[in-house]
Amino acid sequence: AAKTAGGDRFVFYTREMTDRAEIRLRLESGLREAVAARSFELVYQPKIEAASGRLTGFEALIRWRHEGAAISPADFIPVAEDTGLIIEIGRWVLEEACRTATRWALDHGPVPVAVNVSARQLADPGFSRLVEQVLQRHGTPARLLELEITETVIMKDVRHHLPTLNRLRALGVRIAIDDFGTGYSSLAYLRQLPVDVLKIDRSFVNDLPHAPDIASTVLALAQRLLLSTVAEGVETAEQRHWLAEAGCDVLQGYLISRPLAAEAAEAMVMTAFARDEALPLSA
Ligand code: C2E
Ligand code: MG
Ligand code: MG
Ligand code: MG
Repeated sequence: AAKTAGGDRFVFYTREMTDRAEIRLRLESGLREAVAARSFELVYQPKIEAASGRLTGFEALIRWRHEGAAISPADFIPVAEDTGLIIEIGRWVLEEACRTATRWALDHGPVPVAVNVSARQLADPGFSRLVEQVLQRHGTPARLLELEITETVIMKDVRHHLPTLNRLRALGVRIAIDDFGTGYSSLAYLRQLPVDVLKIDRSFVNDLPHAPDIASTVLALAQRLLLSTVAEGVETAEQRHWLAEAGCDVLQGYLISRPLAAEAAEAMVMTAFARDEALPLSA
C-alpha cells in the first residue's frame, strides 16, 4: 500500500512538474517573440511629495499581454532574468522611459522617471555605458532618470556593484534602493553606497499605522544618512497621514494613483505644470 501511495505521489508530482515546465516553456517562447516584436508597454505610477501633494515624478512599470492575458512582471521578469532576455527587455524599458521623460520635459516641464533595474542588468559590464548612450540618444538630462535597484540585489554583492553605481551616479543619474527593509543592509554598507533614495517596502507600509517599527527605523536611518525617502504601496488615508507626520518625503501607491498609461500620465504632468504644482527639481 505504501508503495502504491508513494507511486501515486510520484506520478502526481511529475505531472505537476511537467505542467509547470510546459507553462514555463510557453512563457519563455512568448517572451522571445515579445522581445523581437517589442510588444511590451510601460505604465507610469505617480509619486507625490507627502507634505504638499505635489507631483515629484513617476515610476515606469513594464506590462506584457500574452495570449490575451496580462502577465505580471513578478511572473515574467524572473524568466527574463534566467534566460538573459532581461538585457534586451531592460534596454527597451530604459529607451522608452528616457524617450518619454524627454518628450514630457519639452512639452510640459521636467519630471523624473524611475526605471527598475534587475540583477543581471546591473551585473552586465556594459550597463553604465548603455545608460550614458541612451541618455545621449534621447537628449535626456541625467537628473530626469532614476534607477531603482532592489536592496537584495545591491547587498548580495556590494563590492562588485560599487564601481557601476559610482559611474552611474557620476553621470548624474539618481539611484534608489527599492523594497528597502526586506534585505540585510548594514549601516556600514549603506554609508559607502552612492545612493540617493530609500523606498520603504510595501509590506512595511502595509503595517501602518498599527505596527510602525520598521517604517520608523527606515525613516530615521534615511534622515541620518541624508537620503530621501519614498513609501511604496500607500493604500489608505491613515497610512498617508502617518507617513507625512513621520517625515517621509514622497508617497506612491493606489491611494494616490494606480499606474497609468502614458497618455494619462502625460495629462497629469501637463496639469501639474499648468497649475504650477510640479515639484521643482533639485539641482
Ligand atoms: P516594484 O518596483 O517594487 O514596483 C511596485 C509594484 O507595486 C508594482 O507592481 C506596482 O504596480 C505595485 N503597486 C503600486 N502601488 C501599490 C499599492 O498601493 N498596492 C499594491 N498592492 N501594489 C502597488 P508591478 O507593476 O506588478 O511590478 C512588480 C515588480 O516587477 C516591480 O516591483 C519590479 O520589481 C518588477 N518590475 C516592474 N517593471 C519592471 C521593469 O521594467 N524592469 C524590471 N527589471 N523589473 C520590473
Ligand atoms: Mg520599483
Ligand atoms: Mg518597490
Ligand atoms: Mg516592492
